Amino acid sequence: MDLVEIAVEAPLHNTLTYRIPPELADTVKIGSRVDISLGKRKSKGVVIGESNNSALKKIKPIDGLAMDHTLDPRTLEWLKWLSQYYLHPLGLVYSMAFAPTAAARIRKSKNQSPTFLKEGAIEKNPAPKPNAEQALAIRQIVEASEKNTFETFLLFGVTGSGKTEVYLQSIDEVLKLGKQVLVLVPEISLTPQLIKRFVGRFGENVAVIHSHLTEREKSDQWQSALNKEKKILVGARSALFCPLDNLGLIVVDEEHEPSFKQEELLKYNARDAAILKARIFKCPIVLGSATPSLESWQNTLSGKYKKLELKSRVEDRPLPTVNVIDLRQLKKEKRNYDIPSWLSPALFEELTVRLEKKEQVALFLNRRGYAQFALCGACGFTEQCPRCSVTLTMHRRGAQLLCHYCGFQKAMPPICPSCKSTGLKPVGLGTEKVKEELQLLFPKARIARADRDEITTRKDLEELLEKITNHEIDIIVGTQMIAKGHDFPELTLVGTLMADLGLHFPDFRSSERTFQLLTQVAGRAGRHQKSGNVVVQTYLPEHPAIRYSTNHDFPGFAEAELKERKELGYPPFGKIAILRIQGSSQEGTERMSVTARQEMEKLKQGHSGYQSIEVLGPVEAALSKLKNKYRFQIMLKTASAKDLNIFLQHFMKTAPDWLKSGVTMSVDVDPLQLL
Ligand code: ADP
Ligand code: ZN
Ligand code: ZN
Repeated sequence: MDLVEIAVEAPLHNTLTYRIPPELADTVKIGSRVDISLGKRKSKGVVIGESNNSALKKIKPIDGLAMDHTLDPRTLEWLKWLSQYYLHPLGLVYSMAFAPTAAARIRKSKNQSPTFLKEGAIEKNPAPKPNAEQALAIRQIVEASEKNTFETFLLFGVTGSGKTEVYLQSIDEVLKLGKQVLVLVPEISLTPQLIKRFVGRFGENVAVIHSHLTEREKSDQWQSALNKEKKILVGARSALFCPLDNLGLIVVDEEHEPSFKQEELLKYNARDAAILKARIFKCPIVLGSATPSLESWQNTLSGKYKKLELKSRVEDRPLPTVNVIDLRQLKKEKRNYDIPSWLSPALFEELTVRLEKKEQVALFLNRRGYAQFALCGACGFTEQCPRCSVTLTMHRRGAQLLCHYCGFQKAMPPICPSCKSTGLKPVGLGTEKVKEELQLLFPKARIARADRDEITTRKDLEELLEKITNHEIDIIVGTQMIAKGHDFPELTLVGTLMADLGLHFPDFRSSERTFQLLTQVAGRAGRHQKSGNVVVQTYLPEHPAIRYSTNHDFPGFAEAELKERKELGYPPFGKIAILRIQGSSQEGTERMSVTARQEMEKLKQGHSGYQSIEVLGPVEAALSKLKNKYRFQIMLKTASAKDLNIFLQHFMKTAPDWLKSGVTMSVDVDPLQLL
């Protein structure tokens, strides 16, 4: 090759033409990563093809071949699709398929195990005999891998029904076919527990990638999977970018988890991107969940995905019984107990019994801090974040007021800054206050908090999990951090303090999220020999998200919720994208968002193909100011993903003609965050 087109690692929408010096003509291939100069800057890029751009006068040579692997054609195809679908520059998307440090690329990776596994001789995890439903699932997955067929399986089963065991045994069979396997899990469930299960089964054959590895460790893990030393790669969403070229199976555990979506730069959903990868690599993909996303569920109803169901917990361990407490009634009742108002007598009694029996309890409240805010009882003053349109949350420790969106903090004022007549009072409940008041109620109980104030590093989390497992803790008070995936043998009571807290977000998925969270939380109770119990405190006991979750009835919930979504044309029945417009002046940002809408209308008038696209807005975002940026948004809705994509590509190309500096625009396709 002489002249080539290169996708450069820069925010460019075009590829650039470079010359290959004769001495490299035989080494540089399509998919090679090369060093280049971009103006005065050194950069890198990927060769995507020969160029016929010989009319250009001055064509720069490349500086050399980078010390990286060459991307295979299928990986190139997949990355290109991501770039187009999510409207992110091609060169930047390609760059994600290389390990972070150069050192690791040339060094032959030493057979490294994740740090914490170096400490002990790992416990073996022998395979139990699968039950009939598991065996059926495993057989179908392995068959698809044998035949090199793409198929999306939704493995649907309550927590503790043996889904992970299905992954493990399917993986075992796929390895025997000489292929590799990629396992994606949400970052928060990449716990030692999970990894030990994998390593206990497959020993040295497992590479693990999570965000708390150093770049070098990450590169080592990545490299050992890439050169096939290790056949299984387990990781959070970014592991999807490791360009394994011999894939026989992809597993996405907890497929409904919002953390699979990256919220900045390339705003991809790793679950969706993984499905496309499986299609391109002609292999099966298994999505596992006890509470599938409604998108995936609808796809099983329509026959696009194949449902594999595990109907009960292994060895017929019972699901926990759920007791719903109506907080409205509680307000009316006269209290015989001297207990805090957020605690119902029923939950208090349960707590007392469980603690007497030396069992463990988890109390769940999705709000950290001491109180929701601090209020002046005399004049109604509350302190706002100077950078965001939110009220500051009160934290007892350090007597701080804190912004949960940007981290701004200030000391709690001794008297009301507005009327100066009295001090500010805490209003609303947070985990910090729950722990403090519980300790007064149960002075001997060992209580730990699991939220982002207490648990800031991966090490904190691992230490806490270890303590809970060893029963050095009696009561865990936590946010959604404790809701997911964990398996604690002694935990028999779960209390949800305000189950409807998440239902008030201005987001069409708030009901789905609440259902998922409540079901996941309940799934922590009584997973082993001792049976479990769940107490749900709520102001809205009749809400579908609460009603169906107390009956462990996902299909029922899905049916009710899908009906509403259909009426409104929301996913999974319609496709949406959000255009976010942000700027430092409120007026300028708003003006630009109105212009954006007008430009969209112009495009629609000129093209009959765009008629199906519904443009809603602009509106001020629910979070109208964040980190000193004013935020507006336009929502696009349509039945056709393809039309939407073509429209957005077209629209973004017009932006340089009218977008004023100081205002930025970004597109989020299939957004999960509507705030
Ligand atoms: P899930 O991933 O659905 O939560 P797991 O695969 O973790 O379920 O299974 C729950 C527990 O049951 C685990 O301790 C697992 O080792 C065990 N288990 C799974 N399948 C079987 C089986 N067929 N026989 C006996 N125990 C099993
Ligand atoms: Zn006041
Ligand atoms: Zn803020």
